[in-house]
Order: sequence, then C-alpha cells, then structure tokens
Amino acid sequence: MNLIINNLSKTYSNGVKALQDISLDIPTGMFGLLGPNGAGKSTLMRTLATLQEADTGTVSLGDIDILKQKNELRKVLGYLPQQFGLYPKISAEVLLNHFAVLKGITNKNVRKETVDALLHKTNLYAVKKQNLSGFSGGMKQRFGIAQALLNNPKLLIVDEPTAGLDPVERNRFYNVLSELGENTVVILSTHIVEDVKEMCTNMAIINQGQVLLKGNPLKLIEELEGKVYQKTIVKSELETYKQNYQVISEKLFLGKPIIHIHSDTAPGNGFTAVDSGLEDVYFSQIFGDNTNLKSIL
Ligand code: ADP
Repeated sequence: MNLIINNLSKTYSNGVKALQDISLDIPTGMFGLLGPNGAGKSTLMRTLATLQEADTGTVSLGDIDILKQKNELRKVLGYLPQQFGLYPKISAEVLLNHFAVLKGITNKNVRKETVDALLHKTNLYAVKKQNLSGFSGGMKQRFGIAQALLNNPKLLIVDEPTAGLDPVERNRFYNVLSELGENTVVILSTHIVEDVKEMCTNMAIINQGQVLLKGNPLKLIEELEGKVYQKTIVKSELETYKQNYQVISEKLFLGKPIIHIHSDTAPGNGFTAVDSGLEDVYFSQIFGDNTNLKSIL
C-alpha cells in the first residue's frame, strides 16, 4: 500500500510557501525525507498526520483519502512528533497502558500483551517501572515509538527523531525502527544525512517547500560516482575556489578546510577523486546547481 502525494501546496498566512507542489509516491519500508531547517518537512509531516490543512493537492494511503477521511487515517496512523510533550512522574508501563486505553484497546489481557510486546520491542522492558521523567533522550524517543505503534499502524511518521541523541542512543533507535518490517510506510524526516543512509531504501530531498531529488540512496550515490573531487586548501582561497568550481561541501580537517567539488571531468589543479557519499548527493542539491541528477527520478 503506497502513500501517494499529489501536488500538495501550503502557504502560511505570513506568505511563507512551506510546500510548493509536492508529489511523491512512497512505498512500504523506510522513506527518508531529508532537508535543512525550514525546508518544509514538519509542515508536510503534520499535514500527513492530519494535524493541519493543505491549500491544494491530494494524499492517499490505499483507499483512504487522507485530507478528507481524517478519522479513517488516524486509525492506521502512528506519529512521533518533533516535540513529544512533557514526561510525567509515572512509569513507562503505566503511561503506555493509558495510551493503549485511549487508542481503544479495551480488553485488559490484550492490552497487557500489547504493552509488554512494545516495551520489549523498544528495549524498555527492563526499565518499565521507572518514571519517564528520569528517562534519557533516547529512552524517551523509544517510548515515543512504542506509543506510536500501539495501533499497529500502516503509516508511521517520525519527525526528526534523533535530534539531540548521542551516537549510542541513535543506534538503539535505528535498531528499533529497522525491525518494524516492510508492511508499514515509515516516513523519517531529518536533517541528518547519516540517518537516511543507514536506514532508508527510498528518499527525497526537499528545500524551500520543493522536492529537489528523489530515489534510492545507493543509486543516487552511484550516479555521482567519479564526479566528486576533494582538495585541502587554505581558508583565504575558499572564495576563489567557490567562484571557479562547483563546491558542494567544505569541512575542517586538523584546522584546514577540505572542499568537495562536483565535476564531470578530472579538474587537475591538485584535486583528487573521492568516493561519493550521500552527503555529497545532499550538499550538491542544497548548495550546488546539480541539475543533471534530476534525470534519474
Ligand atoms: P522544517 O521542518 O523542514 O524545519 P517547517 O515545515 O517547520 O520546516 O517550516 C517551513 C517554513 O514554514 C519555514 O520557513 C517556517 O518558518 C515556516 N513556518 C512553519 N510553521 C509556520 C507557521 N505556523 N506559520 C508561519 N510560518 C511557518
């Protein structure tokens, strides 16, 4: 069951065009929505989660017209928002049980089984008696996933889930998501390129409310293969390089800038070829003028 978004647009009352004619066909599995802050990711996520209205466009999940049949969608939706509220002084088990009641799991035994299974799945079973107020950021996010999975959703939306998590917690979070199986459309919105590289079979890059690129991350990386070159330069030369080459990223290594450029042919001048990565794909879209990549949509 695919999530199909057609020509979705949204302009806020202050004139910001947060979504401009977005069209995406998203299959089951993990889909990464990548874009810088302000790109429109949360606006899209909240619209898909029926929390705000679009101006124009349609969205469907199987038979459900998401923008019109909001209650139908909510029955099969799991949503982990960017801000997941305050954490009360009650245990993970009690709160998850409470959410299960709210989601309509009325049979006590079924509810206990569901809650226990989700606590196991999110690696929180051992700490189920602990108050959520004492949970780390990663534990809170895993709890957020547990509540989002209570109704066995067909569409799961996670908005910037790893922001603020340390690497160990991020890994645990990835592991939970990657075990969700292939029957659910999972949309992972993030500005962290690594999240998408490690998790997603499909992805889109958006910026300023528009889809810049979509496809399979590995194929997108392959497409750039042999076209990315790097060079260590001195800081004062950076502007000159930017004028003469298509600089897609700059990083400091031992205090010196290393630039990556996009070039169809070997540029010489001390540049060496490097293996392209998803970061190069991303930065070439956000900062470069890399129109030829769009041909593989
Ligand atoms: P992202 O999640 O990618 O950071 P958002 O969807 O939050 O992007 O924001 C997209 C654009 O819309 C930004 O320019 C943001 O300032 C603007 N925006 C978001 N929410 C509102 C709102 N409620 N009213 C007006 N402008 C908004």
